[in-house]
Amino acid sequence: MSIKNEYLQSLYQKVEQRSAGEKEFLQAVYEVLESFAPVVERRPDLVKAGILDRLVEPERFIQFRVAWVDDAGAVQVNRGFRVQYNSALGPYKGGCRFHPSVTASVIKFLGFEQVFKNSLTGLPMGGGKGGADFDPKGKSDNEIMRFCQAFMTELYRHIGPDTDVPAGDIGVGAREVGYMFGQYKRIVNEFTGVLTGKGLTYGGSLVRTQATGYGLCYYTKEMLAANGKSFDGQTVVISGSGNVAVYAAEKTAQLGGKVIALSDSGGYVVDKDGIDLGLVRQIKEVERARISEYAKRKTGAEYHEGCRGIWSVKCDIALPCATQNELHGDDAEKLAVNGCYAVAEGANMPCTPEAVAVFQKNGVLYAPGKASNAGGVATSGLEMSQNSLRLSWTFEEVDERLQNIMKGIYKAGEDAAREYGCEGNLVAGSNIAGFLKVAEAMKAQGVF
Ligand code: NDP
Repeated sequence: MSIKNEYLQSLYQKVEQRSAGEKEFLQAVYEVLESFAPVVERRPDLVKAGILDRLVEPERFIQFRVAWVDDAGAVQVNRGFRVQYNSALGPYKGGCRFHPSVTASVIKFLGFEQVFKNSLTGLPMGGGKGGADFDPKGKSDNEIMRFCQAFMTELYRHIGPDTDVPAGDIGVGAREVGYMFGQYKRIVNEFTGVLTGKGLTYGGSLVRTQATGYGLCYYTKEMLAANGKSFDGQTVVISGSGNVAVYAAEKTAQLGGKVIALSDSGGYVVDKDGIDLGLVRQIKEVERARISEYAKRKTGAEYHEGCRGIWSVKCDIALPCATQNELHGDDAEKLAVNGCYAVAEGANMPCTPEAVAVFQKNGVLYAPGKASNAGGVATSGLEMSQNSLRLSWTFEEVDERLQNIMKGIYKAGEDAAREYGCEGNLVAGSNIAGFLKVAEAMKAQGVF
């Protein structure tokens, strides 16, 4: 694909000049703009109101120093970020990522995607994202706590339950959210729903932990059903072994699929008998160890070095759930040749543009992350509702809402694709459906 409209081409060139070198951000913007030619043709009012010109520029970008003391008494310095990308639909909302690969470009790409994703959920949430180039691997609990406290000591002044509500992402789970929440409460002296993904004893929502992985499977189930298929009896390969991957694996098994491979940044394990999730959770969640441990403890399982090799494992369905650009064009070729007929993204932008082109050329069903992984933020939205109501819903209540939201997101993308002349293209359909709601709100609220 390419950008087919002159106005969109010149807009992209402006972004390219202004954000030179921001590879991930430019990739995300390009992928969205290339689906917008039919919208621009049909809605000149939105072009006149400068909606797209404004949407490619975040409302606010905050960068700050995070200084903390490690267990040896040495001062460490990291870089913290928060992008408050768009507030047309509600308070900024989006997770925080702690990983050494975090840069301004990564945070901006994630914030940009979040705007469309949050819109698709139908809940009143704007888009934001944050994080730091901090590496949690190998750090003690006390070091993690001191880092989270230092991070929040700056971040607190920029956020609030009606302003900006962060959550988790790579490297930020319940433990980190707890430390950040405690520090916010201590500084501001208020117990509010300023973060989501909180523990169940202090305002968290049931299903939030499972939500992204479960939501991915609910969305994939819709996509498969629309094509006369289901998870039942299918072999499934899932990359990553973190929050999203583990709960995608759990729901896949509940829906009748057989997960045969998982990975981490070091390599991947294959277990033809079906992955034993109890063992994975013991290794990853309790011991915080490497996935290679799995093969040492499970008879018949194999471990291979190098995470991209996972895409050479023969499967029916692939769910990339680790990180951006983890599945390249040649990986997509291998999947297609081996008979994989559906790919749904649990991670944000895990498939490169070349990989997406391979799927589209080969008729592989393809679900873009900003639609298929929206279950996490949707359930965060439900956590915000419960906090405002000062109520807690049951697991079944939240899970049912999540299922309905994921069905709604699938339908919104499918309908918009049909309406805008690209039937079956869930990338274009989801981009358009997410955009139109934000665009109408921005237009109604005047130039800002
Ligand atoms: P976790 O930190 O829980 O797990 C991340 C997993 O991905 C780990 O197995 C990690 O391996 C692996 N990984 C990270 N970086 C790389 C890399 N460069 N190459 C290969 N593997 C890598 O994060 P989550 O599961 O929360 O997030 C995974 C993806 O899902 C991200 O793209 C995130 O943005 C997206 N997402 C998460 C949501 C959530 O609710 N948590 C919501 C929506 C999207 P290792 O341990 O070796 O680093």
